[in-house]
Amino acid sequence: MARKKLIAGNWKMNGLLADGTTLAKGIAEEVKKIGKPQCEFLVCPPFTLLSAVKKALRGAKVALGAQDCSSEDKGAHTGDVSPVMLKDCGCQYVILGHSERRADHKESSELVNKKAQAAHKHDLKTIICVGETLEEREAGKALEICTTQVIDSVPDTSTWQNTVIAYEPVWAIGTGKIPTTKDVEEIHAAIRKTLSKKLGKGNANKMRILYGGSVKPNNAKELLSLEDVDGALIGGASLKVEDFLGIAKNAGVC
Ligand code: PEP
Repeated sequence: MARKKLIAGNWKMNGLLADGTTLAKGIAEEVKKIGKPQCEFLVCPPFTLLSAVKKALRGAKVALGAQDCSSEDKGAHTGDVSPVMLKDCGCQYVILGHSERRADHKESSELVNKKAQAAHKHDLKTIICVGETLEEREAGKALEICTTQVIDSVPDTSTWQNTVIAYEPVWAIGTGKIPTTKDVEEIHAAIRKTLSKKLGKGNANKMRILYGGSVKPNNAKELLSLEDVDGALIGGASLKVEDFLGIAKNAGVC
């Protein structure tokens, strides 16, 4: 069975009610024009926009996701948002372990693992991010870092249906730099091999592995046609309707 490509937008900490709603409506309109897209579209706005974006996407084949969740269901955790709350808002997905959370909030792979278990318990699909820093790549440790992060961050509750992996080299995020296609192929293949050992061949072969880091309409075809690349996690370019849709169109996946 072929893996359905996933085109996912991570809006990060961008958007107020007015422009976030306009962006979501614009994406919804364009996706409706496609009719029955061959790929899956997903947008992950900030928590504050989830309900408004859900409304704006009505009738369009675009899934809704959040950018993080708590490992707890409810209670005394000021500022946190639980998987149950995300489900209640209409989310199907949650991004976990993004490098910005690993760096800004000192999130460990062990915490990401706990959060993913909590999300799975409530039927939320997880996009678990891994990736090396520039320092780690230059030290020849990229492969080791990414596979270790997969081993530690992906819980035993993961299956190909409820988990997506995103390989995002930290140095490629928001910089306009991308790895060579050979490097992307090497890491994606190593991630799949690691998943196979951890979750079995059946899960590993069907689980989607996205590439993320400066994906734009002009490099989408090259990146998304690689053997083990099953879609893209897109930051900056997901904030413009024409760029977000342009990535899927230029890559020929929708
Ligand atoms: C991201 O933050 O997940 C990302 C890939 O950002 P950008 O596309 O802007 O590099």
